[in-house]
Amino acid sequence: MHKIFKPFYAGIGHVLVFHRIYNENDYVFNKNLHVTQGSLEDIVKYFISNNIDIVSLDECYNRITAKSKVKRFVAFTFDDGYIDNLTHALPVFEKYSVPFTLFLTTGFPDHTVVLWWYLLENLVMESNLIQFKDGDNTYSYKTGTMEEKNNAFWSIRRYILESDEKNLIKRLQTIFNMVQDDLFDLTAKLAMSWDQVIELSNHPLVTIGAHTVNHLALSKLSEDTVIKEINESIEIIEKKIKKPVLYLAYPIGSSSAASVREFNITRGCNLKMAFTAKDGNIFKYHTDNMYSLPRISVDDTRGITFVDLYINGFTPFLNTIFG
Ligand SMILES: [Zn+2]
Repeated sequence: MHKIFKPFYAGIGHVLVFHRIYNENDYVFNKNLHVTQGSLEDIVKYFISNNIDIVSLDECYNRITAKSKVKRFVAFTFDDGYIDNLTHALPVFEKYSVPFTLFLTTGFPDHTVVLWWYLLENLVMESNLIQFKDGDNTYSYKTGTMEEKNNAFWSIRRYILESDEKNLIKRLQTIFNMVQDDLFDLTAKLAMSWDQVIELSNHPLVTIGAHTVNHLALSKLSEDTVIKEINESIEIIEKKIKKPVLYLAYPIGSSSAASVREFNITRGCNLKMAFTAKDGNIFKYHTDNMYSLPRISVDDTRGITFVDLYINGFTPFLNTIFG
């Protein structure tokens, strides 16, 4: 089957995007943001055994822009900056001596952005009942059983997402029954510190890219704010790691969060490539779209079979035919 779709839909290479890497035994709700360490290793081994080069983003850039035919490649990228990228992902890449990139949101190590979706996961896991008051309304969620925990997680998540940016911190303080500083302290337990980012940056297998300052949907911001979000994050990271930052991943990365306006802004920001989180393989024609490159999202709902079907063109073929 692969032979039929590959020439048209597989492209010349692939960029994968991951978020957190966790232990097999940990129960998690955000399955679309997690991969177990074992699955990550299986995916690395899959590319090695299929003779597809695992490359850095510098080499990815060289191959996309090369005039002649290039050997097929894949680049591994991680978004946001979770500590487990250092403790659980790095050992896998060291074992096989292959490179990866971290796209960092600077508000996490700077303790100005709350990683509320993971804090909520912990709150739900560790409680039997969650109750809070917001104005005249009282909210109450049983979290005794796994089913109750699951329902409560998705209900409270929805409630948080309904909040606008201005009221977000206030709403989080209410739900978690905590002052702002405690929310940032808890975030610091999940997100890498600057020392850890610098440690990674000094590792020969690692590239650090930018993922803005506040991890917001850029399309909802004014043009000036978008420019600030991108340039400030680049400057902050460069100052810390003392190396140029040449690559960016748009936060959230869907077409509703980053589109033509954002791609044009990024084009003027001294970067070599920028990535969305829209699924897709890389083709030669992408030399004209270096600021809107696709990445294939990998998580625990999309294992090795998904990756295999995607990079060999079967899934893109189906998407083309059936939308
Ligand atoms: Zn992100």
